[in-house]
Parts: sequence; structure tokens; C-alpha cells
Amino acid sequence: MAHAQELGAGVRDVTTVSGIEKTKSSHWMIEIGQERIEARILVGADGRNSTVARLRNLLPRPARERVALQTHIPLPHNFGNRVVLQFLSEGYSGQAPVNDRELNLCLVGVPASISSLRRWAEQNFGITADHPWRTITPLTRAALPPAHENLFLIGDASRVVEPFTGEGIYYALRSGELAAHAIAKIVRGEDRQSALREFSCAHAAMYRGRLWINQIARAAVLSPRFASLVLQTARFQPSILRLLTGKIVPGSKM
Ligand SMILES: Cc1cc2nc3c(=O)[nH]c(=O)nc-3n(C[C@H](O)[C@H](O)[C@H](O)COP(=O)(O)OP(=O)(O)OC[C@H]3O[C@@H](n4cnc5c(N)ncnc54)[C@H](O)[C@@H]3O)c2cc1C
Repeated sequence: MAHAQELGAGVRDVTTVSGIEKTKSSHWMIEIGQERIEARILVGADGRNSTVARLRNLLPRPARERVALQTHIPLPHNFGNRVVLQFLSEGYSGQAPVNDRELNLCLVGVPASISSLRRWAEQNFGITADHPWRTITPLTRAALPPAHENLFLIGDASRVVEPFTGEGIYYALRSGELAAHAIAKIVRGEDRQSALREFSCAHAAMYRGRLWINQIARAAVLSPRFASLVLQTARFQPSILRLLTGKIVPGSKM
């Protein structure tokens, strides 16, 4: 963002986009509080519950089969620099240090089990009952096409990735980069339709081969016993884990 500002981008911090309209010249009129900004191209980078997609009637009905809780707590002594993904009978927990003082703690489960997952976390990490947690929902939803004439949806706004695979930030950044290339072409006067097609193809290619990992992760939450069985088997057959890891992190070695 600092780099974009250096190049002349205007930043409106701590403001909310509340309305968007198409103008007669097919530009966008974007409402931000009292201010209205006209734009030739709009990029919705506003997350899984994208306001831009909602205002354009693109957002699918949310599925609330699973929810997540997330918080930062003091980094437990001796936690070390590792990432923990822990299967529990009610769902799963992800734990990773944010810095040398704090731990990012996530809990994922079905709505009926989320309170007992929270109690598990309170007991295991010495968290008080009044500690603030952030609720995240929906955890997954149908993907939206990322390119619509002069509207781009990037990151979670277009496609939400299962948090278990922990790589949503990469997709958000990379899809932003792909959109920027396409927009640069359009602004330079190159053929709009071929720039949009190229962007959509590169966007789809980025996710190819990962969707079944999402399904496995989803099954792991809905049926933790099955997930534990697979992991126990993987102890004796490490090729299973190698295969799954290789799908998420190409070129990785376990
Ligand atoms: C429990 C959980 C754990 C995860 N763990 C990881 C992990 O370890 N590693 C990883 O890579 N990914 C992880 N992810 C996924 C990751 O958080 C997302 O994929 C990523 O943040 C998507 O980035 P984004 O920029 O598309 O959306 P977001 O990060 O959601 O950003 C959207 C932004 O838009 C703003 N916004 C929304 N509406 C408006 C509006 N109307 N006006 C103005 N601003 C608005 C929001 O305030 C927000 O700042 C996890 C997700 C979950 C649910």
C-alpha cells in the first residue's frame, strides 16, 4: 500500500464502501461515507463477505455448516517456531506464532461444537472466559467469477480457500497481481476481452488441483475420527502425507 501511495494512489483508511453504481459512461460511482469517487475499473478485494459482490448481487447464499474462531494470545513458553494443526473430536485447531510474543490461535468446527472447542482452548492455553475472539463465517462458499467487464474480484472475494491449507494470503496477493497486469493492459488500450480472458485463465490455473484438498480438509472437520485414522495410517505410509503436502506446496519435501 505504501508503494501504491508513492506512485500516486489515494488511500482512504478506516472508511467503508457502502454503495456502488454504474454511471452512464459505464464507469463506477463508489460511495465511501459522504464521499463519491468515480472509477473506470473497480477491484473488489474485500474478503469472503465482499460488499462489492453483495452490492452487485453476485454473492451466493452463505453456508453456515462450519464456523471459525480466531484470536491472539501470549506465546506459550517453549512453543517454538512451528505451526500446529491439531485434530480434536469437535473440529480442529491451528496454532502459529505471529511474532516472538503472540500466538495466533484458530478453532474450526460446526456451530454446535464451537463453544466446547472454545472451552478446550481456554483450558489448554489458560485463556479467560471473557477473552475476545473473532468469529469467521462462512468458512467456504461457492467461487465467483473473478472478472466482470470493468469489475475484478480478487482474494477471498472471488474464492475462499479452506483455512486448513493456510495459504489464502498467497492467493489474495497473487490474484491481485494478476488483476493488476490485466488492468494495466486495459488502461493502455489493449483488447479488453483478451485481457479479461487471460486473467480468468491464470486465476483458474492458480487454484487447479487444490480443490480436492479443500474437500479433504472439510471432511476432516466434519469427521475428525476419519481424519485421525488417515493420519495414523500416514505414519506407516508417509507417501500419503507427501502427496498431500506436494499438492499444496509444490516442490516440498517431507
Ligand atoms: C480461521 C482462519 C485461519 C486462516 N489462516 C491462514 C493462514 O495461516 N495463512 C494464510 O495464508 N491464510 C489463512 N487464512 C485465510 C486468509 O485469512 C484469507 O484467505 C486472506 O486474508 C484473504 O485476503 P483478502 O485480502 O482477500 O481478504 P481479507 O483479508 O478478508 O481483507 C478484506 C479487507 O476488506 C475490508 N472490507 C470489507 N468490506 C469493506 C467495505 N465495505 N469497505 C471497506 N473495506 C472493507 C476488510 O475490513 C478487510 O480489511 C485463514 C482463514 C481463516 C478463516
